[in-house]
Amino acid sequence: MLTEKILTAYAEGSPIEFISDSFQIAYNDVLDILRTYKEDSKFKTTFTDEFKKMIAERDINGVPRNIIAKELSINPNTVKKACQQFGQTLKEKAISSKVFTRIEGNFDINRCPSCSSNRVNLVEENTTYCLACGSEYIHKKDHVLKLNFEYLEE
Ligand SMILES: [Zn+2]
Repeated sequence: MLTEKILTAYAEGSPIEFISDSFQIAYNDVLDILRTYKEDSKFKTTFTDEFKKMIAERDINGVPRNIIAKELSINPNTVKKACQQFGQTLKEKAISSKVFTRIEGNFDINRCPSCSSNRVNLVEENTTYCLACGSEYIHKKDHVLKLNFEYLEE
């Protein structure tokens, strides 16, 4: 159960330190869980589609590929291939090159999760833009993802 949540947060682009803080487990334990999942995902000479989709999703959410390779302790070429294989189909549901911060809790979609302003515009289904603090938020079932434009590399 916890593993599942960690893998979801990982795919969504949360930094390892943030996952460690959110779930109150040591940084190295997060890496252990990810690498155990990797071992369990080995399939013939490659990995399962599920594992590769997780990599492609983390890439889409803005985490550099060399970082992903390091975190999972895998070949950068494997990361690249996973992104090529699954990136395109995942792009529709994610926004390219953006990093998310996960905010736990249930939030009113008409209010900003950060500054509580009601000056929010609905930009897409479940996605709001706050005019007061200039951030974008994606509302999920029990959390909100805040887009961190400042992490953009381009
Ligand atoms: Zn705001």
